[in-house]
Amino acid sequence: MELINTDVAIIGAGGAGLRAAIALAEADPTLRIALISKVYPMRSHTCAAEGGAAGVIKSDDSLDMHFDDTVGGGDWLSDQDCVEYFVKEAPKELTQLEHWGCPWNRETDGSVAVRPFGGMQKQRTWFAADKSGFHILHTLFQTTLQYPSITRFDEYYALDLLVDEGRCQGLTAMEMRSGMIKQFNAKAVIIAGGGAGRIFPFTTNGAIKTGDGMAMAYRAGVPLKDMEFVQYHPTGLPNTGSLLTEACRGEGGVLVNKDGRRYLQDYGMGPETPLGKPQLKTMELGPRDRVSQAYWHELQKGNTVSTQWGECVMLDMRHLGEKCINERLPLVRELAIAYLGVDIVKDPVPIRPVVHYMMGGISTDMQAATPLPGLFAAGECACVSLNGANRLGSNSLVELLVFGKSAALSAIKHIQALPAANVANAAALAARAGESQARIRALFSRTDGTESMSGLRKEMMDTMEKNVGIYRNEAGLQEAVDKIAALRLRYQNVVVNDKSNVFNTDLFQVLELGCMLDCAEALTVGALARKESRGAHQRLDFVQRDDASYMRHSMVYYQGLNAPRLDYLDVVITKSPPGVRDYSGDHK
Ligand SMILES: Cc1cc2nc3c(=O)[nH]c(=O)nc-3n(C[C@H](O)[C@H](O)[C@H](O)COP(=O)(O)OP(=O)(O)OC[C@H]3O[C@@H](n4cnc5c(N)ncnc54)[C@H](O)[C@@H]3O)c2cc1C
Repeated sequence: MELINTDVAIIGAGGAGLRAAIALAEADPTLRIALISKVYPMRSHTCAAEGGAAGVIKSDDSLDMHFDDTVGGGDWLSDQDCVEYFVKEAPKELTQLEHWGCPWNRETDGSVAVRPFGGMQKQRTWFAADKSGFHILHTLFQTTLQYPSITRFDEYYALDLLVDEGRCQGLTAMEMRSGMIKQFNAKAVIIAGGGAGRIFPFTTNGAIKTGDGMAMAYRAGVPLKDMEFVQYHPTGLPNTGSLLTEACRGEGGVLVNKDGRRYLQDYGMGPETPLGKPQLKTMELGPRDRVSQAYWHELQKGNTVSTQWGECVMLDMRHLGEKCINERLPLVRELAIAYLGVDIVKDPVPIRPVVHYMMGGISTDMQAATPLPGLFAAGECACVSLNGANRLGSNSLVELLVFGKSAALSAIKHIQALPAANVANAAALAARAGESQARIRALFSRTDGTESMSGLRKEMMDTMEKNVGIYRNEAGLQEAVDKIAALRLRYQNVVVNDKSNVFNTDLFQVLELGCMLDCAEALTVGALARKESRGAHQRLDFVQRDDASYMRHSMVYYQGLNAPRLDYLDVVITKSPPGVRDYSGDHK
């Protein structure tokens, strides 16, 4: 097996991975950095982000207000020391992107423009039309190109972490072009592998978002935190699940039911505001969990619109006018025409809630360190406890930057304190890599498998959709826990049909399914045990938030094929005691 020696290996070249790489290269030009990604960096999901990135910049705004919005939006499950750090760093990171060339939209006086976003009481979302993620990722990617110390391993599929002497010291990865497995020895590893929305059938997430990074850490003994909190975005196209950004509503778009009523006023998010004048933090600019839940109630009441793509509500943007739509929402117009044949300039567009984002992930502290020494994580795969029970739109892109950088700086600190490498350790790492290779070979060469990848995957997705959606209950969650456990057992008999070595997508999909099943296990077990309703986790049988019992993070530990171990961790409260989430318009 080829051995590649590096100082820091980064798994993932999306926003978080690229930001970490730049911070490493800037802080110490002598560090060798391996940037490993299963797709070409610009194809990472960050590229698909539309609406923008939040950071306080206007004079009527303050860090305290961004803090309050984030903590309240997260239903008091965020660690508040983490949120304080985040809101302080956010404007610095966004300004840094500006200096690296990110083409933010401008006000007429030339200053950076911001737009309203859900759950935010002030306008603070920086944007580049509705292609913000594309421009951010491009800016980061082109910046990495100037550092010779960053070596890219594009189209390498990371498999297993190498752990010895109680430290993470590298990983194995398969070169997808050749099928060869390589051993990466690294003094520190940063996981920036993105989310896991693909465990659900109807999602905005790209096909690569299969939770590989989360599963790698989980199997290595690192707990997955708060996995039961799954964000539904209120406005997805009903057939493909493609996202219509929250910026549609930020710019003034409204949601109406079959009677043309702006129904959000019936769910504590009123009062109705005049068209074209979005009221911050209320109505269509309420937080995503509440707006998605309101859709569910409209569906139960029979107030939705029956379309050829199923039950929907309508997103009406006609009053914005063609000029505004073309300047600020060109991609949204393009998507609705391409996939539904609806021109948003002329007609309302049918939409429904769609799985969008994982609040939970690899447990890290505020410095992006996991409990496993030498292993760091940032971005959507990580749970640094910024987003709590419900992320506010436009906080994630900034999270990638703030904590991608933290992960890099923490990795450097870790490396500086390491003992000298020794021969026995090198042999142990080679042995671990050998075990990883044997695992893949056994899976690949098995001929007596009875289970198909696509069959298992479908059953997993169907279970998640049926039982772990916007509203949940005991019986459904128990069914999901049992089903996922059974599927994990049946996965031991999965067969890889394609036996070739070159870009064997069959093999990668089997590996991704294994990762998704592990993530689904942690998610369902956490959800069943959380007998309360908080943020995106809503239980029909426990409708109240229960701070006495559950203002705690769920921590799920891997136990092989046995049921995982569940533990809890206290939430850090610094200055905002748990309160009532008010989106009624009375809070001003
Ligand atoms: C359609 C859409 C729109 C969004 N809009 C916004 C928005 O406007 N504002 C906002 O704040 N947030 C938005 N989000 C959320 C935000 O974009 C994501 O949470 C964020 O971009 C994730 O970035 P990341 O760096 O963590 O991971 P990603 O960008 O998903 O990158 C993951 C990386 O990991 C690599 N990887 C994964 N597994 C492996 C493996 N096994 N081996 C090797 N490499 C691997 C991939 O190749 C990729 O490079 C949006 C999300 C979606 C889906």
